[in-house]
Amino acid sequence: MRLTRAFLPTLKETPAEAQIVSHRLMLRAGLIRQTSAGIYTWLPAGWRVLRCVSQIVREEQDRAGAQELLMPTIQSAELWQRSGRYEDYGKEMLRITDRHDRPMLYGPTNEEMITDVFKAYATSYRDLPRNLYHIQWKFRDELRPRFGVMRGREFLMKDAYSFDLTKEGAQHSYRQMLYAYLRTFERMGLKALPMRADTGPIGGNLSHEFIILAETGESQVFYDAELESIDWAGAAFDFDSVADMQACFDLATSRYAATEEMHDEAAWAEVPEARRRQGRGIEVGHIFYFGTKYSEPMGLAVAGPDGQMVVPEMGSYGIGVSRLVAAIIEAHHDEAGIKWPDSVAPWKLAVLNLKPGDPACDALAERLHAAFPDQAVLDDRPERAGVKFADADLMGFPWQAIIGPRGAAAGRVELKRRMSGERMELSLEDALARLAA
Ligand code: ATP
Ligand code: MG
Repeated sequence: MRLTRAFLPTLKETPAEAQIVSHRLMLRAGLIRQTSAGIYTWLPAGWRVLRCVSQIVREEQDRAGAQELLMPTIQSAELWQRSGRYEDYGKEMLRITDRHDRPMLYGPTNEEMITDVFKAYATSYRDLPRNLYHIQWKFRDELRPRFGVMRGREFLMKDAYSFDLTKEGAQHSYRQMLYAYLRTFERMGLKALPMRADTGPIGGNLSHEFIILAETGESQVFYDAELESIDWAGAAFDFDSVADMQACFDLATSRYAATEEMHDEAAWAEVPEARRRQGRGIEVGHIFYFGTKYSEPMGLAVAGPDGQMVVPEMGSYGIGVSRLVAAIIEAHHDEAGIKWPDSVAPWKLAVLNLKPGDPACDALAERLHAAFPDQAVLDDRPERAGVKFADADLMGFPWQAIIGPRGAAAGRVELKRRMSGERMELSLEDALARLAA
């Protein structure tokens, strides 16, 4: 991608309306543009990041045994009347009427719809367990949309739904999702702490929110510092093993961690003082076991092994995919801009040609750019070096290859790692080898 041809608009001025750093940087780096309150266009760089984040979520859901499908954004009110939620959901639901005066809505979530879809095919216990998910836009008419895509009205969510024959089966499905979430967030360079969440009338302990620590977070959180040091990707639990999933669950949930709403002073007092941490956090995911809350009223039942009809036990599992883009920036930035982790960067490499028109510079820059056709941006604009440095830092490419006339004459390239600031001067061959690795 050549910057002279690309649509990658950056802003020099800090937009006045943005109150938190991720929102400011998303606007300045040209990732998003607001089209109306809480509704955004994802510009090319932002869309590429959103796709990387979605892909990691997808891979980890698949690894855990969930299967992807795609349900529509628009739903009929009739579905929601059956579960009894149509009246209860209130003003957050965007209600629409079609030309035949039929009440419709823009889906804020999909429990009713997935239960209805599953019901059309599931007849026996052999159709269980199943876990189905989609990554789809949701609409919630939030009272106060704010902080950019952090709390939008239209936002991208991954929502999975599990169906099990027994409560024990549903607990296993729940633990599989808990482990999948820990792996997912870690792959994005985030430490997400699972915190007990309110289960309402369902009771039990099977509801957790996943919280990223950030000063600008909306929730106050209390946690045991030991939780931060667990390496989930290295833990290597087996998704199919009930014992492994139990062990993973115990490891993730045996230490104190709670949001303000669930905070328990007595339990908190038992955490050794040196390990007590308090801070602000951003909710990036929420998993929930809710038994037969939807299967029962929606009339989902299958024949059990003994021929008796059984109402499946369900859970739902959400990830705020678009919110994650902002959360990653909250976790990885400095005064100059974004520092994308490799796994979600829109492009992995920016090739900065400091003197377009200089034959040695052009030759080196073209070679490097051509070596990574999908993953490199070439800054071939007739701009000052300072402008190129500033834009590359702002946009946060994990690698910068800096090509100036003096180095280029000697066949040398400077590589800069955005995350650490580390710099190295290498021959073209060594630079290519380093970047390919
Ligand atoms: P919140 O308390 O932040 O409103 P929620 O409890 O309403 O979240 P869920 O229904 O559990 O959220 O949705 C799953 C995930 O979707 C949340 O964990 C969050 O990451 C994301 N999400 C929810 N509302 C929004 C929103 N308005 N904008 C962006 N992401 C959202
Ligand atoms: Mg909400």
